[in-house]
Amino acid sequence: MFIVELSDLQGLITALQGNGYAVIGPTVRDGAITFDTLNSVDELPRGWTDVQEAGSYGIRRREDDALFAYNVGPHSWKKFLFPSRLRLFAAQKAGKGFEVDPAPTGTLPRYAFFGVRSCELAAIAIQDKIFMDGKYTDKHYKTLRKSACIIAVNCVRVGGTCFCDSMNTGPRAKAGFDLALTEVMADGKHHFLVEVGSPLGKSLLQKVTHREAQDAEKVQVDRILKAAEDKMGRTLDTQKLPRVLQDNFEHPRWEDIAKRCLSCANCTMVCPTCFCSTVEDVTDLTGDHAERWRRWDSCFTTDFTKVAGGNMRMSTRTRYRQWMTHKLSNWVEQFGTMGCVGCGRCITWCPVGIDITAEATAIRENSMSTLNG
Ligand code: SF4
Ligand code: SF4
Repeated sequence: MFIVELSDLQGLITALQGNGYAVIGPTVRDGAITFDTLNSVDELPRGWTDVQEAGSYGIRRREDDALFAYNVGPHSWKKFLFPSRLRLFAAQKAGKGFEVDPAPTGTLPRYAFFGVRSCELAAIAIQDKIFMDGKYTDKHYKTLRKSACIIAVNCVRVGGTCFCDSMNTGPRAKAGFDLALTEVMADGKHHFLVEVGSPLGKSLLQKVTHREAQDAEKVQVDRILKAAEDKMGRTLDTQKLPRVLQDNFEHPRWEDIAKRCLSCANCTMVCPTCFCSTVEDVTDLTGDHAERWRRWDSCFTTDFTKVAGGNMRMSTRTRYRQWMTHKLSNWVEQFGTMGCVGCGRCITWCPVGIDITAEATAIRENSMSTLNG
């Protein structure tokens, strides 16, 4: 483990840019901490934090100059790896036929994601399984993902809606990064403890002024991260949860949720693991040019389950049940893990504050089966 002083952190951004990466990181925009192109440490949310609760989000000034003292915001990295709109191909009339122009993958940017939280590493690992590690590969995703560099940042404070500890996905990054930083502000110091996670990370660190961390500095970081873990406000008991939810398919709580849920799909848009999309064809007025676009879709929209002969999920009750049971139950059969990493975004950004941890707990506690964990 190594130490990089605050004054030398710019060197890491410069080294990434020197290696040809487009650096993307957190910055304050439109009253939120969002992700955007980063050229300088000065663009980070220095001295800002966020305040999150079910159905509410805000940012506030801190009394110090911390760069990473906030938790996950409305954006997730899927915005870059799995963009909300993607042109799959264009077709231009040529003689009696059409010339097809597929979406290019050779000119895609090489991203360096700066400030990736531990739960987000888990979310990226989940989307890797879906888009590139299984039988079917998304070429666009794979090209971006394979060339991406990940600079993780450990959470030294937990947000109001996080429950990564329950999902075993945080707050400390354990794998899946090139470098992982922990921001330390104590005893008049402001520096970063750096863990190297790959040969790429090692070569990047060589370009940044750094020194070996002393044992006391490593212990200090362990203590800071343990304190964050202990302060986690929300929990989700995952013991036998897939089975509990399956056994309670007709539980009255689903109807109770439906009375509050607006079926707005916010929860799926902000979720870093949700991956559903639809495909739309558009043509110009002449009929000479057509394009096929992929865009994010959601199991909360009525069109999502429209098939010949009708719609199999007409009610909000069935749509919310589908979403939650997929995340916390069926996903395990499909992909070997739960589809939730405990980031809390769906709780914060739900306009009526529906909380997946509270709903799952309510179903468990009033289980209609004898199985209650
Ligand atoms: S279901 Fe909610 S808490 Fe879980 S990963 Fe998605 S947004 Fe985060
Ligand atoms: S749970 Fe909340 S965010 Fe999700 S669809 Fe319902 S109202 Fe919208």
